[in-house]
Amino acid sequence: MVRITLKNDFHDTEVVLYVRDDKLTRGQIHKAWKTLCGVDSCRCSDDLGCRGEQEVHLRLSWNHETGLSVRVCEEQDKGTPAE
Ligand SMILES: [Zn+2]
Repeated sequence: MVRITLKNDFHDTEVVLYVRDDKLTRGQIHKAWKTLCGVDSCRCSDDLGCRGEQEVHLRLSWNHETGLSVRVCEEQDKGTPAE
């Protein structure tokens, strides 16, 4: 379990999440967005609500069936080949 803090420097908000297996749950994705931005029409950030410098590197991917999924990489693409 890893504790991460995500930030949004536009709304000046942050959210703390406890992530298991480097993957955010659907509930956590919703909570993050709701806490960091939460404004439907707002274009300040990505689908997760993050904006500005983050302490972790996040990889967002979208799938029609499962929706948004987010993986946490503690360091920039350590050991994974770039696509
Ligand atoms: Zn916003």
